[in-house]
Amino acid sequence: MQSASVHFRQRASGALADKHLQRTLKRFGSGFADKRAAARRAFGEDAFEILREASAAIRDRALEDLDAWLLRFEAEALRRGSRVIWAEDAAETCARVLEICARHGLTKAIKSKSMLSEEAGLNDALAAAGVQPVETDLGEYILQLAGEAPSHIIAPAIHKDMGEVSELFVRHHGRPKSDDIAQMTREAREMLRPHFLSADLGISGGNFLVAETGSVAIVTNEGNGRMVTTLPRVHIAITGIEKVVPTLEDLSALNRILPRSATGQEIENYFSVLTGPKRAGDADGPEHLYVILVDNGRTRLVGSELQEMLRCIRCGACMNHCPVYQTVGGHSYGWVYPGPMGSVLTPVYQGLENALDLPQAATLCGACHVACPVKIPLPGLLRKLREMQMERGLRPWAERAAFRAWAFTAQRPWLYALATRIAARALKWMGGGRGLIARLPFAGRGWTRGRDFPAPEGRTFRELYRAGRRRQT
Ligand code: SF4
Repeated sequence: MQSASVHFRQRASGALADKHLQRTLKRFGSGFADKRAAARRAFGEDAFEILREASAAIRDRALEDLDAWLLRFEAEALRRGSRVIWAEDAAETCARVLEICARHGLTKAIKSKSMLSEEAGLNDALAAAGVQPVETDLGEYILQLAGEAPSHIIAPAIHKDMGEVSELFVRHHGRPKSDDIAQMTREAREMLRPHFLSADLGISGGNFLVAETGSVAIVTNEGNGRMVTTLPRVHIAITGIEKVVPTLEDLSALNRILPRSATGQEIENYFSVLTGPKRAGDADGPEHLYVILVDNGRTRLVGSELQEMLRCIRCGACMNHCPVYQTVGGHSYGWVYPGPMGSVLTPVYQGLENALDLPQAATLCGACHVACPVKIPLPGLLRKLREMQMERGLRPWAERAAFRAWAFTAQRPWLYALATRIAARALKWMGGGRGLIARLPFAGRGWTRGRDFPAPEGRTFRELYRAGRRRQT
């Protein structure tokens, strides 16, 4: 998928001006966040925190010896009859998939949701090689019909309302318009069924790789995942190298926190552990199972000050709690991963200079960190990326000059006190009788574009503190 992250500002402005999108985003509101909060309460708030701690430790243990666990995964997967392929980047991922298609003479691929296939732009590569890709996750199916990219990692079509989907179905299915969701779902299922039965290739992602058994674990809420992994004669699971966990016990712990954090469910509707291809006597399963382990920028994070980002288990909780994501929607971020996790991953995978505004696309309120099931310090990582941008001169000169002036002042307490005294008084004066500032100058302009800024009462915190102490003594 081509990255348009460098245009975040323009895309976000467009999203803010799009009334229809704003209505749809408002309807999404705090749905997932409320469900997560209820699941956390039901689990026990203290127990949930212990589980978060344990989950972060599991992910760290895997990442500390990532190479060793991956080699163990490969050895165990091979022992059970799977084929393991390593791909360095998006182009190599597509090339390996096409090689498999050519080797087995495959012509139609049914797919369950895979963010890595979005990263690699796999659908375009398949279609160009004459292999028909068919998305079978309902959200992804809707987006394939619409020719759009996902806007959320677990609810890809969340930016679309029922009316849009209904019109899309009329255009592509040629059936009467319906506004009954159950009927529309049935209709999609009827359209997909012939594809399930005729496809010779199944492509899925992988939520986790289990090193001790060479297994790929997949969680879904729709039965399509099972069809994709069992019906076609060849199956390819494509996943990032960071998804490995040492043991089945680790998998079980992570799978207690993943659905609760994502959708507030105790467990997903379908939880599959693929361990090797179909064996003699098995009723179903693919004759050939390939696992493609993709780097595509992940090793750049290993051993770096951003390594904690690799703990991510793709639950979507950070975007469900992010006020910026909920206002501008996922497409504003311009690449596969939106929200706070995308604002860290995209600059790393696509280059900091190609995602200039993403580290800034956060209020640093900390809600994402609090919601993250593996305790990724997202605000801290975003701050580190901002520092890197400054060091590499990737921010506008005015911003860099402002930070230099700030650093100079903040290191001289007398100057800081003087500057803040002047600023507090100037802001009070600007507030006038109403105590509200309609237009701030310089970088503050953005703050007052849609609202007034409350003027301070004219004294700095230090002055107020000193006055308070004097009153007490
Ligand atoms: S960063 Fe944390 S909250 Fe966000 S998707 Fe990854 S695991 Fe979930």
